[in-house]
Amino acid sequence: MRFIKAESLKKKPSDVSGFGKVFTDYMYVREYRDGRWNDGEIRRFDALELLPSASVLHYGQAAFEGLKAYRDDRGAVRLFRPEMNFERLKSSCERLCIPTVEVSDAIAALTELVRIERDWIPTAAGTSLYIRPLVFACDDSLGVHSAKNYKFIIMLSPSGAYYSHGFAPVALKVEREYVRAVAGGTGAFKVIGNYAASIKAGDSAIAEGYDQVLWLDGVHRKYVEEVGSMNIFFAFGDKVVTPELNGSILPGITRDSCIKLLRDDGFDVEERKISIDEVIGGARSGALTEIFGTGTAAVISPVDRLGDGDEDFTIGVHGKSGKIASRLFDELTGIQTGRYPDRFGWIKALR
Ligand SMILES: *Cc1c(COP(=O)(O)O)cnc(C)c1O
Repeated sequence: MRFIKAESLKKKPSDVSGFGKVFTDYMYVREYRDGRWNDGEIRRFDALELLPSASVLHYGQAAFEGLKAYRDDRGAVRLFRPEMNFERLKSSCERLCIPTVEVSDAIAALTELVRIERDWIPTAAGTSLYIRPLVFACDDSLGVHSAKNYKFIIMLSPSGAYYSHGFAPVALKVEREYVRAVAGGTGAFKVIGNYAASIKAGDSAIAEGYDQVLWLDGVHRKYVEEVGSMNIFFAFGDKVVTPELNGSILPGITRDSCIKLLRDDGFDVEERKISIDEVIGGARSGALTEIFGTGTAAVISPVDRLGDGDEDFTIGVHGKSGKIASRLFDELTGIQTGRYPDRFGWIKALR
């Protein structure tokens, strides 16, 4: 792997806030040409040369990932379950006929890049270095078929605390008009087209005073799927229910980690179909005590309000996270940052 040193480096921000707006000095770039991936190189984070005919711009043959690096108080860099992200990237690539990148190659590239950029990893509470791997087609041709040329890029963005005002709950709107995905489509993969297709519903939810939409299944419009970029959990007292992976839900790594933590902590976790009627019924009767979303960016996102048509339901206590969501947030961020022991072997530490 080549390292092309930049002539000058950026000034690091003294105070990190926001998400995905600031990028570090370097990125990793690997190219696929003539049937093989090259060795790749680490070079200045800068504009790419891309023709207007580049196939990704027309047909969206691209997949991405999102993970985070933390620095603990002894200065070690900690990655959270990175092999899960690169396994998922492989399956997303396979779904879109993109040549895959070996997990070990991707991790070697990432660890080298993060080592070079370790001083960019923020250490204030709630901050992290967000890592965005991306693979896309760059044939210079308008034919609709799998491309012959690709780029694999890893970029790094120091990110501020997701919750600038503490652990604030969000409001969800049940989406009855649009659907995100159907089994057999691409909902279970982190591919770029899924997000373009979800923006319209997201924008109208925001215009109506909600934060995100709660998607229902595309066939029966009955079973809960997930939220824009989070999986979803419902607590009925100490029983926790999350939709089973059904081929249209994104298999979140935070989702998997929460299920393992909860089970290890003695909670009863059911992965099964859960209808919106069961959710609304529970909200009406009070049996539904908590809703929370799970995803790399927010880690855990408590939900205190659920809107459906003209009705609005308060979940738990307005303005407050539920007990299970708070506990998961504490445990997960504790393992990620090194405050708690890594009881599942989830951390890849770089010295
Ligand atoms: C990334 C993503 C998630 C969360 O996955 P994590 O691996 O936990 O970050 C959930 N839903 C969608 C649609 C996503 O894109």
